[in-house]
Amino acid sequence: MISGTDADVIGNVEQVKEQIARACNRAGRKAGTIKLLAVTKTVEADLVMKALRAGVTCLGENRVQEGMSKRLELAGQVFEFHLVGPLQKNKVNKAVDCFDWIETVDSVELAQRIDRACSARGKCMKALIQVNLAKEPSKSGIEVEYLTELVERAQTMRNLSVCGLMTIPPYFERPEDVRPFFRRLKELLDQLKTRLCSDTVFGELSMGMSHDFPVAIEEGATIVRIGTAIFGERLYT
Ligand SMILES: *Cc1c(COP(=O)(O)O)cnc(C)c1O
Repeated sequence: MISGTDADVIGNVEQVKEQIARACNRAGRKAGTIKLLAVTKTVEADLVMKALRAGVTCLGENRVQEGMSKRLELAGQVFEFHLVGPLQKNKVNKAVDCFDWIETVDSVELAQRIDRACSARGKCMKALIQVNLAKEPSKSGIEVEYLTELVERAQTMRNLSVCGLMTIPPYFERPEDVRPFFRRLKELLDQLKTRLCSDTVFGELSMGMSHDFPVAIEEGATIVRIGTAIFGERLYT
């Protein structure tokens, strides 16, 4: 993997797109239906610019503060901005001003706060519900037994558009070992879809990162979140 500022971002984006296309092919899916989210945490703005020039249209950040800085540094650029890290209650207003999507809604209270902030601004936030599939204490996300209630409550909020589910599965060396988690999230999405009324949009599955996104696509991912494979290893641990 190429590292730091020397990363061949444009070449990497091409490679990732090729891998997306191949995974789609294997799964009998259309490559154009997968959203490539370039995760830009710790990445300098000039490298992010390269990704945009290479045709990336969606960026992801995991911290609100860094997201706000990126917005300033990339002023004038058009991109869809996703929050992919945990959102603290006291940062909801800032997050609502900064991001187009919040992928990490994991409680009724957080959903309500986002809904209220959006209401005050006359906007509607696209949201994903983050699921903690393996009940890992170190990770955010709602546990599966409370998921239906959260989705049903969030669905009723006027300034929130609940579009689907997101997960960060446990890490395994072999991407194949992550497959059951991706499959499970897809199952949950399908179960929820049948419960919700048919005119709601609830079809997005944000899953898969640099080392396992082809498997995630085979299992139904519609959004893949890629950092390292585009920008190189991050310069922190
Ligand atoms: C950093 C991050 C990613 C990207 O991880 P890579 O392994 O570098 O592709 C994806 N999702 C979330 C939530 C992240 O924080």
